[in-house]
Amino acid sequence: MTNLNPSDKALVPFVSVDHMMKLVHHIGLRDMLKGIAAYIEHDFKRWELFDKTARIGSHTDDGVMELMPTSDGLDYGFKYVNCHPKNTKEGLQTVVAFGLLADVSTGYPVLLTEMTLLTALRTAATSATMAKLLAPKGAICMAMIGNGAQSEFQAIAMQAILGINEVRLYDIDPAATAKCAANLMAAGLRVTSCKTAQDAMNGAQIITTCTADKQYATILTDNMVGAGVHINAIGGDCPGKTELAEAILHRADIFVEYPPQTRVEGEIQQLPEDHPVTELWEVMTGKAAGRTSEQQITLFDSVGFAIEDFSALRYVRDQIKGTEMFHPLDLLADPDDPRDLFGMLDRAK
Ligand code: NAD
Repeated sequence: MTNLNPSDKALVPFVSVDHMMKLVHHIGLRDMLKGIAAYIEHDFKRWELFDKTARIGSHTDDGVMELMPTSDGLDYGFKYVNCHPKNTKEGLQTVVAFGLLADVSTGYPVLLTEMTLLTALRTAATSATMAKLLAPKGAICMAMIGNGAQSEFQAIAMQAILGINEVRLYDIDPAATAKCAANLMAAGLRVTSCKTAQDAMNGAQIITTCTADKQYATILTDNMVGAGVHINAIGGDCPGKTELAEAILHRADIFVEYPPQTRVEGEIQQLPEDHPVTELWEVMTGKAAGRTSEQQITLFDSVGFAIEDFSALRYVRDQIKGTEMFHPLDLLADPDDPRDLFGMLDRAK
C-alpha cells in the first residue's frame, strides 16, 4: 500500500521492518541520520514544553523491558524496548523495539512502527549531535569499543554529521570486529581492527563505548583516557550496568539527557547524587557551554531518552506521507455510531 483514505481515521499506518529498510534506502542512510538529528535538536530546544518522565523498567536476571513515553502537548509517543545481553548467544538481538505516536487531541494513534532499526538510527544521531558540540575541533578519528548491532550506525553518524574518516575497532569477540570492519570499509571509512581497547584509543579524539553486559564493567580504565578527548558512552544504560572507571568521571565534564533517569541508569550512578552535570538541552539552546578548552575531557553519558524516540517517530510519520512504505492497520474499532460498539460486534456475526 498505499495512501490512507483521510476518512479512515481508524486505519493506522504501520511501518514494518521491511518498510523501514526501504525508507532508509529511499532517503539515504546519511540523510536520514541528519534528518533525525535535526528533529532531535528541534525537540530538545523545546525542552520545557515536554511532559517528561524517566522510563519505566521491568528488570529480571536476564535483562530489562522498558516503556518510554513523552508528549509535547500535540503528539504523544512511546517506545517499548528491551536489553538482553545474553540474547546474541541464542541468535537473537540484544535490543528490539517498537513504538507508537498518537494525536493528543483525540488520543487516536497516528503511527505504529518497528523501532529496532529506528533506535539504532536515533541513538547514533543523538551521539553525533552531541559530539558536534563537545568533541575537539577537527576530530577525524573515533575509537569504537563494542562492535555489535549499534556500532556501524554510531560510526556512520559521526562520519555524516561530524566528518570523521577513521575508526579504530575493538571487541572481545573478534567476529564482531570483523563484521563491523567489513561494513564500515564499505561505507568509506578507514578502519583499523585492534587487539585491545587501549590500542583502539591510540590517536582517537572521540571514544565511543557501546558494549553490552549486565554488570558494572570497566571497559575504560582511568589511565587509558588522555586529556582533550570526547567520550560517547552508550552501553551503560541500566541500574548496575556501567562501562567507565569511576575515576574517569571525576576528570570529565559530564553531559546527560534527563538527570532523573541518568542518575539511576547512566555512568553517573557511580557518583553522589549532587555531582554536577550539564543537560543536553542546555547546550543545544546555548544556555550552557559545550567544550570550553582543548584539555577538557567531555563525556556524553548516554542512556537514551524518550524525546529522542518521539523525534524519530515524528520524523518517520512525516517521511512516509505520500509513500507506499506502510500498511494501513485495522487497529481501532470504528462503529458507525461511536456508542454502538456492541452493535458493530453483533452485526459481524
Ligand atoms: P550487541 O550485543 O549487538 O553488541 C555489544 C557488543 O559488545 C558485542 O559485540 C560484545 O562482544 C561486545 N562486548 C561485550 N563486553 C565487551 C568488553 N568488555 N569489551 C569490548 N567489547 C565487549 O548490543 P548493541 O545492540 O550494540 O547494544 C550495545 C549496548 O548499547 C547495550 O548495552 C544497549 O543497552 C546499549 N544501547 C544504548 C542506547 C542509548 O541510547 N544509550 C541505545 C541502544 C543500545
